[in-house]
This record gives sequence, C-alpha cells and structure tokens, in this order.
Amino acid sequence: MNKNHKTIKTVIVVGGGAAGFFSAIRCASLRPDLRVIVLEKGRNFLQKVKISGGGRCNLSHACFEVRELVKHYPRGAKALRGPFSRFACQDTVNWFRQHGVRTKIEEDGRIFPISNKSQSVIDCFMQLAKHYKIELRLQSAVRTIRVPDSVQKEYSVLLQNGEELQAKYLVMATGSSPRMWSTLEDLGYKIIDPVPSLFTFNTKDTRLRQLSGVSVPKAHLQIVGQKKLQGEGPLLVTHWGLSGPVILKLSAWGARFLHRESYKFQLKINWLADYNESEIRSLLQENRQKHPKRTVVKYSVLGLPQRLWNNLVAASGINQENWADISKKQLNKLVTILSASIFSIHGKSTFKEEFVTAGGIDLKMIDFTRFESKLHPNLFFAGEVLDIDAITGGFNFQAAWTGAWIIGESIAES
Ligand SMILES: Cc1cc2nc3c(=O)[nH]c(=O)nc-3n(C[C@H](O)[C@H](O)[C@H](O)COP(=O)(O)OP(=O)(O)OC[C@H]3O[C@@H](n4cnc5c(N)ncnc54)[C@H](O)[C@@H]3O)c2cc1C
Repeated sequence: MNKNHKTIKTVIVVGGGAAGFFSAIRCASLRPDLRVIVLEKGRNFLQKVKISGGGRCNLSHACFEVRELVKHYPRGAKALRGPFSRFACQDTVNWFRQHGVRTKIEEDGRIFPISNKSQSVIDCFMQLAKHYKIELRLQSAVRTIRVPDSVQKEYSVLLQNGEELQAKYLVMATGSSPRMWSTLEDLGYKIIDPVPSLFTFNTKDTRLRQLSGVSVPKAHLQIVGQKKLQGEGPLLVTHWGLSGPVILKLSAWGARFLHRESYKFQLKINWLADYNESEIRSLLQENRQKHPKRTVVKYSVLGLPQRLWNNLVAASGINQENWADISKKQLNKLVTILSASIFSIHGKSTFKEEFVTAGGIDLKMIDFTRFESKLHPNLFFAGEVLDIDAITGGFNFQAAWTGAWIIGESIAES
C-alpha cells in the first residue's frame, strides 16, 4: 500500500452495483482528496444494470412530483419523501445527460437510455470511475465488518481472501444479499424478512386456455378478502397465467401477504374496469335489443379481444345461441364472468424485465437526511439492502440513485 494512503481518508463501498457505483462516483467527484474503493464479490460490475429492463435499463420514470413519486413505493414511501425533494427523476435525467447518456421517455413514462442499451449506463459509470481514480476490485467478497471502537478508530472490512482493509467511511450497497444481511444483523441491525416482489400469477384456469398473448387495456383486479389489495390497468394473459402492469403492481403491494399465503389465493377480475356490474348488464341488454339475431359468441362486445370473448362466453354456458335466445341465467352468468370472474392462483413466476426483494434493513435504523446508520456514524446504506422497493417502471433504480447521491453529498460534507 502507498504510504500516502495512511493519511488519506478512505471510503469503502461494498457492492459494485447501481447504488455502489453511483455513491462512489458522487463521492469521488466532490472529494478528490478521498480514496474511494469499490469492492464487488462477483466477476463483473453492474450485473443487474446490464440485464435490467430487458437489457435496456429502465433507469427512472417520468414522474416529476415528489408527492406522486412516493406513491410507487409499497415500502419506503415515507422515508423517501425528503430525499426525493433533493434528488429525483429529473435530476437523474439531468445527471445522465451531463455525463453523456441521453435518455428518452416512453409512452408509459419509463425512461431509458436513447441507445436502448444498458451498456451505455455501464460505460458511463466505468469511464467516470476511471476519471475519478476510483479503485475497482472484482472478486472481493466482504466476509465480515468490524465497527470502530476505543482501540480501532476506523471501519475494518475483512475480505474472503483474508485481506483486511480500513476505512473512515463505509457504504453498504450489497443489494439483496442474505449473507450481508446476516452480517449486519450481528452488528445490531434489524432485518425485515426478505420476500420476492414483482412477479406474475400462475393459474391453469380453462377460461384462459389458448389466450397467451391476449391483453385488455384496463382491467380491475382484487385479491379476494383483501380490500386494500386491488388495482386497475393493462392485463396480459401468458402461458402460465396472468401478467401485465396491474398484476405486477398487485404483486408488489401484496408481496408480504401473498408470501404468507404461499402464493395460493383467489383473484377477482373485472375485465372492463370502466364499467361496474349493473353498467355491464345494461350494455349487454342494449346489445341484445339491437342485435337479437346475432350469435353471441361471434361478435365480441364492449371492446374485448375476440378470443377472450369466446372463452368467457363459453364459460357462461352459451354455445351458438343468438342474443334473443339466451336465458336470464346465462345472461347473469355472463355479467358475473365479465365483472367478477374468480380465478384460483396457485403460484408465481418471475417477471424477466425486473424483479426485486421486499425487505432488508429496517428503515427505523437509518437517518434519511444522510442515508446513514443511526447506530454507527459514517456507515451508510443505499439501494436494495434497505427495506425499500417499488413497483416496476424505473422506480427501483431511482431509489438507488437518490440514496447513493445523498451518501456522496454526506461524505463530502463530513
Ligand atoms: C432482471 C432484473 C431487471 C431489473 N430491471 C430494472 C429496471 O429496468 N428498472 C429498475 O428501476 N429496476 C430494475 N431492477 C431492479 C434493480 O436492478 C435493483 O433495484 C437495483 O439493481 C438495486 O441496486 P443495488 O446496487 O442496491 O443492488 P445490486 O444491483 O444487486 O448490487 C449489489 C452488488 O453487491 C454485490 N455484493 C453482494 N454482497 C457482497 C459482498 N459480501 N461483498 C462484495 N460485494 C457484494 C453483488 O454482487 C452486487 O453486484 C431489475 C432487477 C432485475 C433482477
């Protein structure tokens, strides 16, 4: 080690992912006098950034009001209010633009690099790390951490290979690593049980047979018996069951409840979220009067995709009857199926574009003006290691950038 390092204050960032790199870069750019080291256990840096957003990296969301933005976080909304007033989505876009990554906003509000390549983000971070002389170390898994005491004034980090490093400032950006959570638990941190979030629902319901790829623009869904677990939005039928924005949203808000239920529950679907049961009944009756001689199954009504309509009509016990010939019972059944179909869900599947872990360091232990531990001064936490997570759409990275940016500021001011 260079002799000068003894007098230079060191920042160790554990974890070479989104939060780790962003905090290291912010810190090194503000304080060139600090020695900044990033320790990554894997063979590559920024692995999740690489695969994120289907390889395109959905790095933020066009949600520019803090009050609106926090609504996308099932866990962490309150804690993030203050931090987002300092660094949020517009700041992210500006930051990336200033550092050579131009971005675009897609129709649904998601923000991506204009290149459509996550590699643009990785290249940007790697160039900045080089520019600011950040020491990047791969295959450097941290095994244990010792906090300062009366004898040793600095943090001590023991690597898997036996090497020991000291630092005045320690940034934990280890994502959802059970091993690190357990190490932190030993240091007195409460860990909220990790459970998956952002997943799709599995069902073998025959009403969805051969509908893979069919979508409806606006369905209303509710987990039966859970008033708070409901929402509406685009719904997509897949080979295994149900996906689309509304399912992912429900999976995030219901992450803990659904885990407790072992992902076995009943889901109620109104396929036409703009109408309630009695409105659907009136619309069907209107249609019946207008087209009494039409075969019900032949022409989809109310804008539903034809293939879905076929299955729902069949499930109502209607075969080749005309509108005029269907019984009251059949009509009632069709109304119920359109407005309140019940599906048995029996598991979950991974949504490939984005998934996260709900749970992590209990937010009560963190001072969110600095993203610093309340137990140990100069120990900081950013990204998924915290009990913060969002629905899909770029919000998870936004929380990582925000925390990391504030950590950089906090260390620079110290
Ligand atoms: C497939 C997929 C796609 C996604 N797409 C998006 C998206 O488009 N938009 C979005 O907002 N979010 C997305 N996410 C979520 C997003 O990737 C995470 O929220 C984000 O990566 C969290 O960043 P982080 O730095 O906290 O953790 P990570 O990116 O997981 O980084 C943590 C790093 O710490 C390292 N580490 C762990 N333990 C140790 C140790 N003991 N010593 C040294 N290093 C260690 C890990 O190897 C890892 O590299 C996606 C997630 C997945 C899985």
